Amino acid sequence: MKIYWTATGEVHALKGVDAVFPAGTVSAIVGPSGSGKSSLMRILAGLDRPTAGSVSVGGVDISGLSTGRLRGIRRRLVGYVYQRPSDNLVAHLTVREHLQLAARLKDVDDTGDELLDDLGLSARKDALPTTLSGGEQQRLAFAQAAIGEPVLLVADEPTAELDSANGGALLEVLVALAGRGIGVVLGTHDPQAVAVAARTLFLRHGAVQAETAESRRLSVIDAAGRICLPPEALALFTDRRAVLQLVDGTVVISPPSPQAAPAIGPETWPQAAPET
Ligand code: ADP
Ligand code: MG
Repeated sequence: MKIYWTATGEVHALKGVDAVFPAGTVSAIVGPSGSGKSSLMRILAGLDRPTAGSVSVGGVDISGLSTGRLRGIRRRLVGYVYQRPSDNLVAHLTVREHLQLAARLKDVDDTGDELLDDLGLSARKDALPTTLSGGEQQRLAFAQAAIGEPVLLVADEPTAELDSANGGALLEVLVALAGRGIGVVLGTHDPQAVAVAARTLFLRHGAVQAETAESRRLSVIDAAGRICLPPEALALFTDRRAVLQLVDGTVVISPPSPQAAPAIGPETWPQAAPET
């Protein structure tokens, strides 16, 4: 759960989110603006804490850690990439120097040469960020985030500022990084990104409405038994009341009508014993 306290009141940005982002997999988090994507990703990356609930990264429960230990985890286990390429980079460092700095901060012995090769940046080792295209900048951001083999890479709308060719090239790189065993989580509006993701989580009003994996879309039922209808289904229920029928292990949810079959509800619940 994530609550923000603001001058105008409480914002319940995440409610009862229960999700797993597997290693070696690209997962996409999608949902309308304000649905909680960025909040969830900042919590996953250890940049913010949940108001309640817990978060584990690579088997380590990070929700109760001190700020110092959390910073250590963030360095070793998690990489975070911002939407705007320039936010991820330092203007006066070359490509090679970015990777050297990342390796030093993470205390690993890696020149990043192999990553640069994989990311198609080997020829630009001595370039400064301003001379790189947006796509190259974003690939560099992922290269420095991926140094030291983190278990999780989180990126908030990484393709939003790229054209579709550069976006496509970046996504190929992300699939390759997942192939090394890294869990890659993208918040995105980009259909191209959703297409490469092996799993997609649909957020709505701060809750997980549905998830797809292996092209099956599953609605999510929260701990209280609530299920979120997609907008096209919700439109059928103008007065927000539904008749539920349990038929041979299938639940049918329909708008109330005078002809509706007997419902699962108070009228079929056990009656109180008649008074004597
Ligand atoms: P998304 O990334 O899907 O657009 P966010 O996680 O950014 O969603 O926001 C979810 C909700 O939380 C929104 O109502 C937003 O206004 C609110 N929110 C996000 N960050 C803050 C913050 N730092 N302070 C107050 N409210 C915030
Ligand atoms: Mg956002």
